[in-house]
Amino acid sequence: MKRTLGCPTNTEKDYVGFATLPNQVHRKSVKKGFDFTLMVAGESGLGKSTLVNSLFLTDLHKDRKLLNAEERISQTVEIMKHTVDIEEKGVKLKLTIVDTPGFGDAVNNTECWRAVTDYIDQQFEHYFRDESGLNRKNIQDNRVHCCLYFIPPFGHGLRPVDIEFMKALQDKVNVVPLIAKADCLTPSEIKKLKERLREEIDKYGIKIYQFPDCDSDEDEEFKRQDKELKESTPFAVIGSNTVVEARGQRVRGRLYPWGIVEVENPAHCDFVKLRTILIRTHMHDLKDITSDCHYENYRAQCIQTMTR
Ligand code: GDP
Repeated sequence: MKRTLGCPTNTEKDYVGFATLPNQVHRKSVKKGFDFTLMVAGESGLGKSTLVNSLFLTDLHKDRKLLNAEERISQTVEIMKHTVDIEEKGVKLKLTIVDTPGFGDAVNNTECWRAVTDYIDQQFEHYFRDESGLNRKNIQDNRVHCCLYFIPPFGHGLRPVDIEFMKALQDKVNVVPLIAKADCLTPSEIKKLKERLREEIDKYGIKIYQFPDCDSDEDEEFKRQDKELKESTPFAVIGSNTVVEARGQRVRGRLYPWGIVEVENPAHCDFVKLRTILIRTHMHDLKDITSDCHYENYRAQCIQTMTR
């Protein structure tokens, strides 16, 4: 229904007018802008920063200082937060990337997830405090909506550290596991590793982000795409900060002596699928689950301890 500020037209007279509600909500949300906080976790050097840059086409890590081996030994997990404001066709997105560099660099990796889970809890704590305070209108929401967990492509499945890390995260944040640097594997190796990882995720009871079921009234094409997305997990991804020329076009890719790996080519990796769920199709669901499920659990625990 078209929006009119003057008198209703003849056809509009048949309506009370609440059909404009979706438009009103839409306008308000667009004006306010959207925010999304994405965390990346996993061993150092698996291409986390490169992938994030490839996803959002920005160089978020230009000021990054890489540590030498000696510095890395003493370093504990240090959390770094980068915020960028992106605008596309008038829609504003405040994107926050929470990077967890250093994991796996130290000699002792016992409880290396602690700093990450503490960070997530702290964001819940801030939100809980602000929500219970006097000025509840303009709360800055820094809760982590999704955590991309990078699994190395070299092993035969999950390592104990991957299992423990994901288990430590699973009740606090939506965990999306990824196979990093997928260009190291052939298509059949990727298929095998994916099957293995799915089995192990099941076997060890790791709760990863579950794509919501498709509504029965969705069209067949949408249902097919949804099924394909679910069957492709854990997504095998490739990142690149360079643009190369392939088939006469400039594309984001990696140039090897034997050929070019294209980040956005679905035949080469699942990068486009990952970007689709994060940005186009499931961002809202990830935010809803964070708020309705993970944050609610935290809040219930807080209230329980307060009233004890
Ligand atoms: P981080 O420590 O996990 O943030 O890893 P970086 O993004 O800094 O990447 C570490 C190294 O791996 C760099 O030399 C990257 O160029 C390289 N790299 C990043 N992504 C990929 C990938 O998808 N495939 C391959 N083969 N190398 C990658």
